[in-house]
Amino acid sequence: EQYMSDDFDIADIGVDGEQAVPLPVVAVVGRPNVGKSSLVNRIIGRREAVVEDVPGVTRDRVAYDAEWQNTRFTLVDTGGWETSVSGLAAMVARQAEYAAQTADVVLFVVDATVGITDADEAVTRVLRATNRPVVLAANKVDGSMQESDALNLWNLGVGEPYAISALHGRGTGDLLDAVVEAFPEGAERAEPAEEEGPPRVALLGRPNVGKSSLLNRLAGEDRVVVDSVAGTTRDAVDELIELGGKTWKFIDTAGIRRRFRALQGADYYATMRTGTALERAEVAVVLMDVSEPLAEQDIRVVEQVVEAGRGLVLAFNKWDVLDEDRRIYLEKEIDRQLARVSWAPRVNISAKTGRHMEKLVPAIETSLDGWSRRIPTGQLNNWLKELVAATPPPVRGGKQPKILFATQAGAKPPQFVLFTTGFLEDNYRRFIERRLREDFGFEGSPIHISMRIRE
Ligand code: GDP
Repeated sequence: EQYMSDDFDIADIGVDGEQAVPLPVVAVVGRPNVGKSSLVNRIIGRREAVVEDVPGVTRDRVAYDAEWQNTRFTLVDTGGWETSVSGLAAMVARQAEYAAQTADVVLFVVDATVGITDADEAVTRVLRATNRPVVLAANKVDGSMQESDALNLWNLGVGEPYAISALHGRGTGDLLDAVVEAFPEGAERAEPAEEEGPPRVALLGRPNVGKSSLLNRLAGEDRVVVDSVAGTTRDAVDELIELGGKTWKFIDTAGIRRRFRALQGADYYATMRTGTALERAEVAVVLMDVSEPLAEQDIRVVEQVVEAGRGLVLAFNKWDVLDEDRRIYLEKEIDRQLARVSWAPRVNISAKTGRHMEKLVPAIETSLDGWSRRIPTGQLNNWLKELVAATPPPVRGGKQPKILFATQAGAKPPQFVLFTTGFLEDNYRRFIERRLREDFGFEGSPIHISMRIRE
């Protein structure tokens, strides 16, 4: 593998579990005017252009979501990568080089009616030097007249020329078959099946913060529907609770409720069970007791949620006993100790009096929403292009790293992959995360950003 994969984490708290692998990347290369843009538009069917008609956002994108025969991939137009032009052949060679570095398959477009030019040969030399699969598109074969032109492109020595007309769509099906065929093993993966049923919430916090009281307040003892969980610990119990006109599944409430807890000891839940509850939950409400100083244990539970990559809501309980002095101090504590999760929605509640109970569900919904959000590849790259133009990555070791393009490789939680020509400093990656949050939300969810750079 010629790439160095550097997974890192913005918040200094890792997101555990399986990292989403980016979709296969197909880079379109070729000299100007061979029909690259027409081919890109033909492949993506201009779908993204409609979605992303955002005012003030430039239309020249570099990466798109594409699909052929149920196989999804990221289609990259290399056109925008090289701005300083030192001769046409040199420019397209540089583009081909970047493309070969970042793509799984290179789609090399040549104008069959013109034939092989110096620039085409320069591209060929670059591509030959790499071991990336190349699919050769002989474009502008609008009719049978030009078919012999396409045959001449065998002379490039990069394999079979696929005669196509990007303009009319002729031959593009066979071309895309060849592209998909060249994907690395296992690239045709299906989206993981969505789990059916009500959203799953874990109610977490150290002993005595008020979990049991809150659960009782939310459920009302007599309305509780207990759902026994197959294949988990004998005493794991989920409860279906209706809130805000919707059913929610509260995970492993056996550990919370007093009548069960008496059987196993209070601390058992806080330590042992948080992890298993998180595994099954989509979002966690972490309860904290405002009548006491924030404890290390509180922070640890929050970190566990972030590490597990789940949505997070911070609930400050026992607000009824909070006096003014303590309140001011508490705000400072929160600023200091929970700054890393400043993106999490926060509710100040009292399980005892019922204060602000109605704010809990909207907060949970906000987190679930941010956790599930996906940004289309085209929109993401438009945004990134403007961001990088305004604030380029700092020079490192005398070199300016380039961010070629980015994709959101997964959601739940959102995971991004930046394809770069060099290492991006921590500060700059945090800056990207901050701006992603400012412009796209992701409220209530950890975000994971990784880089793919060439060593
Ligand atoms: P758990 O261990 O997290 O489940 O906490 P419990 O629900 O058992 O509550 C611990 C103690 O805090 C109990 O004495 C509750 O009555 C009390 N408590 C819970 N919520 C509140 C609240 O909002 N205000 C006040 N004043 N006391 C509360």
